[in-house]
Amino acid sequence: MIHPVAVIGAGPFGLSTAAHLRARGIPVRVFGDPMVSWRDHMPAGMLLKSTPAASNLDAPQPGHTLVDYCDAAGIPRLVTDEDIVPVETFIAYGQWFQQKLVPGLEQVRVVSVDRSEQGGFPLKLDSGESFTARAVVVATGLSGLSHLPPELAAAAADGPAPTGPVSHSSQHHDLTRYSGKELIVVGAGQSALETAALAAEAGAQVRVVARGRGNVDFGAPPWKQPRLRPESPFGRAWSLWALTYYPHPYRHLPAGTRHYLVRRVLGPLGAWWLRDRFEGKVRVTEVDRILKADTSQGHPSLEVLTDAGTVDRLAADHVIAATGYRVDLAAMGFLGHELRTALAVSRGTPRLGAGYVSSVPGLYFTGLPAAASYGPVMRFVCGTEFASPRLARHLAAAHG
Ligand SMILES: Cc1cc2nc3c(=O)[nH]c(=O)nc-3n(C[C@H](O)[C@H](O)[C@H](O)COP(=O)(O)OP(=O)(O)OC[C@H]3O[C@@H](n4cnc5c(N)ncnc54)[C@H](O)[C@@H]3O)c2cc1C
Repeated sequence: MIHPVAVIGAGPFGLSTAAHLRARGIPVRVFGDPMVSWRDHMPAGMLLKSTPAASNLDAPQPGHTLVDYCDAAGIPRLVTDEDIVPVETFIAYGQWFQQKLVPGLEQVRVVSVDRSEQGGFPLKLDSGESFTARAVVVATGLSGLSHLPPELAAAAADGPAPTGPVSHSSQHHDLTRYSGKELIVVGAGQSALETAALAAEAGAQVRVVARGRGNVDFGAPPWKQPRLRPESPFGRAWSLWALTYYPHPYRHLPAGTRHYLVRRVLGPLGAWWLRDRFEGKVRVTEVDRILKADTSQGHPSLEVLTDAGTVDRLAADHVIAATGYRVDLAAMGFLGHELRTALAVSRGTPRLGAGYVSSVPGLYFTGLPAAASYGPVMRFVCGTEFASPRLARHLAAAHG
């Protein structure tokens, strides 16, 4: 019997990888809820920070870009760097891509993946079915990796929740629930600043609490990008160009450098088009750090150390922690214990070799979990262009 390859995940990386594997004639079963991170874990009305050219799911054949989708859907083409992609359009694009290139997607959860002594990977699905895959691609993206710093977690005794005192930004789709309320958003990245702007537009009184002076800032618009530097999907800069188009050597850098660059490159910075919607509408409090969070009668407050060295208290009706995501294999509960302990890791992330294969032959990781090996571009949709064809080629050669 020929065992199929299992692709776990139906976000941009899972769909793009599956399309490349199928184009090579490899039998593939693909699992997941298509585009769910974008549909349920990002705010309605959000606009993509990435430009249209950096928002394509890489496909093995032409005709599947965001522009192709716009043409097929009969909506105005999103082409230039000044065109902004609404999240709703991007979700529809991902679903169109899935229907065209990944038909037969199975909307079930993979409950467990183990390794068999005879070779292959036994999988259990939440439908009750079990089967063996010849190789597994983990493309589970942001799922289960939201990060809540311990000082904020302390105020969310029952766990973070939009109806409790503290939540994580990934728990929000509809921000109108905070209309008329006082809201604190912790963070300085695009997610924090856009969540704050959308909540303010929905009628909340919003304060962003950010660490470090001058950290709340916005990128330069396309017409102000430096002209004498090479173009990359993230702006014009030699470093961004190299990290985008030449991530091959990244995994050979020292661990400290790799992890630092994943965190810092393309780090906290609002999109150029957000500035006008943010400034004057959202209060910003820059602090040295948040010392702790408490709740009194269901209302949270933050004790902060100010830049001047004094301790201050900031109260609100609710705190949203837009504090990002951390890759941690321990949080990927579907990976069986034996498999997880067999994996070579670096600070909780899988160490990957050529072709995105882990130290367990046949087990691949792509998207965010691959960023510590292939660089910050793997945190973004445009990373599919480098990753998907290479992963598919490696897998086809080793297990095709
Ligand atoms: C607020 C916000 C804004 C962003 N904006 C941009 C942007 O403008 N441009 C950009 O390039 N990137 C952006 N990103 C990053 C973007 O989210 C990622 O690049 C992208 O979603 C990663 O895709 P993925 O396929 O790896 O994972 P995801 O999109 O997270 O998809 C994960 C998939 O895995 C499936 N899954 C998880 N566990 C299981 C399981 N056990 N069994 C079966 N299926 C499972 C889910 O159902 C889902 O289909 C943004 C992120 C955030 C948080």
